[in-house]
Parts: sequence; C-alpha cells; structure tokens
Amino acid sequence: MLDATARLIAVLTERAYAGGITVERVGVGSAGVIDALSGDVISATDAILGWAGTAVTTGLAERLDLPPSSVQAVNDVHAHALGEAWTGAAAGTASSLLVAFGTGVGGSYVLEGRPVLGHRHVGGHVGHFASPYAYRNGQPLTCVCGGSGHVEAIASGPAIAEAYQRLGGQAPGPDARSIFALAAHGDAIAIKVISAAAAAAGQAVGGLANILDPKSSWSPAGSQMPAPHGGGRWNGPCGPNSSRPSPTFQCCLQPWVTPQPWSAQPASSSLQQSSSKGTDHDPVPRRP
Ligand SMILES: [Zn+2]
Repeated sequence: MLDATARLIAVLTERAYAGGITVERVGVGSAGVIDALSGDVISATDAILGWAGTAVTTGLAERLDLPPSSVQAVNDVHAHALGEAWTGAAAGTASSLLVAFGTGVGGSYVLEGRPVLGHRHVGGHVGHFASPYAYRNGQPLTCVCGGSGHVEAIASGPAIAEAYQRLGGQAPGPDARSIFALAAHGDAIAIKVISAAAAAAGQAVGGLANILDPKSSWSPAGSQMPAPHGGGRWNGPCGPNSSRPSPTFQCCLQPWVTPQPWSAQPASSSLQQSSSKGTDHDPVPRRP
C-alpha cells in the first residue's frame, strides 16, 4: 500500500511541477486511527488488511527520499474536514462538523482551522456513538470496532446493504448507493432500512451539533447518506421550537421516506449509555 501511495505521490508531484507548482509538503489522509504526531496507524479495521501498525509518515518519507518532517498523515476524515474548512464547503467558518457515511461512519470537528483530534487522535468518530436504533430484537448490533449498538452498525454502507439483504431485498449493486436508488423508487424494504439508518445518523449528528454548536454541519456529497435538506449543509442545532431546521436526517428525509426503524424498538432510555508542527523542510524533489 505504501509503495502504491508513494508512486501516486510521485505522479501528482510531477504534474504539479509541470503546472508550475512547487510541492513543499506531502499530506496523506488515511483510513484508521492515525497518530498525527508520528504518522503511525494506531488501529484500523480490516478494510485494509494489515494496515494497523503501519508507519505511514516515515514509510512514505523513505520511499520519497524526504525528511519525515515534510510528510504528514492524519485520518482521512480529519483530512477531508480540514480541506473543506480550508477551501471547501466550510471555508470562512470558524467551526464546522463533517460527518462522512461510507464503508464506516467518520466525522471531524474543525475549530479555528484545526481538526479537534482528541487525546488519542480519535476525535469525531461519530460511528462509534451509541445509538438506541442500533438494536435488533432487543440485542445491540455488533460494530466493526468490536463494540455494539453503535451508529456505524446500522448506518454505514455495508450495514445498510446487509440489513437490506437480510430482510429479503436483492441489492443489484455492491454498496448502499443502489439501495438509496431503490428507496427513491418506492422499494419498501429499502425505505425501511434507510429510515432506520437515517434515524440513527440524525440522532447522533443532532446530538453532536447541540454539543459543539458548529457554524456549519454537513455530510459530503459522496456519502451514502443523503445530505440534509439536499443542499449539503444545515446550520446549527435547534429544538422543536426553533425556526431553524431540525438537526436530524430523519426529518430531512421527509417526505421521501417515513421513519420506521426495522430493528427492535429503540432502547428504553433515549440513549443507552452512555501534527506535528511544521519545521524547516525541503520541497518535494522532482522525480526523475
Ligand atoms: Zn463501533
């Protein structure tokens, strides 16, 4: 994986130089929990086998003949959120919350231009937020992290696809995009599954929005979960008496789908439970 990544960086660097751009540093967004100081993969799921423990920063620096200080790796969603805050959808805002639904459910809160990484570099991992919707027949759904009852266990792409097929649906594609398309055409099972996922996602993100009060909250267009209100953003937390839009995907999906969780009733309680600094560095050398 590092070999392939280094080759890609070399290609991109060459293109940049060809366009008159001097590349001074290499930034990498990686799956898994990344130690932003060392650039090592602290932990990762089996989406990339053997990825946990990989020294991304030093491994790439060696392959590119660069000092380690010229390479930095962070979690991919942290990198995504930082990019959006820098020059994308959240540009110009002092705080933003990005939630990414895909093979997992990731997130990142960016405050004053810096992603909040937390003590163990796992800040913003919305997917492992406990959800009363992540239950089936009274039992919590198993999450890929080893825990149970988490948002990711019901709202990730694989979780949606698994639920759809388990309830008798025949997904024509390998991911949840096809199931969203089926829901848009009235497929009852697809609507049921996506409603449950959306309810879990909406409750989790709404809770975070109320805690963090970001200026901008959004789900990227590439996510498998529809962006709230179709526009990719909604602004700030709200309550039932607020004139602001509800911070739940569940609301935002109306009237497209009617929330009707396919799992067991939500648990009895509303919730069950619970860079390194830049240093002097050399430009990335032009590859021969
Ligand atoms: Zn989890």
